[in-house]
Amino acid sequence: MRRRAALALPALLLARPARALQWRGTATQGALLIGQGAAGARLALDGQPVRVSPEGYFVLGFGRDHGPRATLAVNGSPQLIEVAPRHWDTQHITGLPPAQVTPDAATLERIRVERERLAVVRGIDSAATDFASGFGWPARGRISGIYGSQRILNGQPRQPHLALDVAGPVGTPIHAACAGRVTLAAEFHFFGRLLVLDHGHGVNTLYAHLSAIDVREGQRVSAGERIAAMGATGRVTGPHLHFGVSWFRTFLDPQPLLPG
Ligand SMILES: [Zn+2]
Repeated sequence: MRRRAALALPALLLARPARALQWRGTATQGALLIGQGAAGARLALDGQPVRVSPEGYFVLGFGRDHGPRATLAVNGSPQLIEVAPRHWDTQHITGLPPAQVTPDAATLERIRVERERLAVVRGIDSAATDFASGFGWPARGRISGIYGSQRILNGQPRQPHLALDVAGPVGTPIHAACAGRVTLAAEFHFFGRLLVLDHGHGVNTLYAHLSAIDVREGQRVSAGERIAAMGATGRVTGPHLHFGVSWFRTFLDPQPLLPG
């Protein structure tokens, strides 16, 4: 089921410090870069400290709307990174129940509480380095939604879609995209039945609209392990997996991380 992402290594070599930093992936809007070779280095991206593992692993993320440049400070010495802009589609979705598009006051309160709970989980900064092994597809199926699209629901503009949607029949097995620890197993208004896994250094994967959850909070899972089944819970027009990848509070594009 699971294949490793090909390790294209278009590394940006930083002249100082003497040891070069390298990462997998290309610096673009929405990119998560998995880096190595920084053992002992102090890193900060756009002023925020970046955790470096004893083996030198680190991650950098650029949000959907990141500007054209980022500043990576290496041992206090700033280096500029060009962040390539991307074009984002507009996606129209119609036929949603009006209450799903414009929730009532009680539902808004529930949504607020759920957002906070999710923010706490996504803010976890664990020392695990599971992310360094790369990611595999959590499910196979038709890609029915891509990262970054501006969404128009029943004609009303809403938040961009910050995940990858994979459509398939209810019950399609969902696998852990990477080894990690279950930090959230819950049922939310928009996301329906939902799982979040922590892969270390603030890297999370999120699996939403599940019909069934096979794991519990606190549990360790291995890469490719079955963790849930595809469903149509929460705000959906049909059964699919909403698969998100985030680095702390920034949702990133899962697709470049997955095998082609
Ligand atoms: Zn989605």
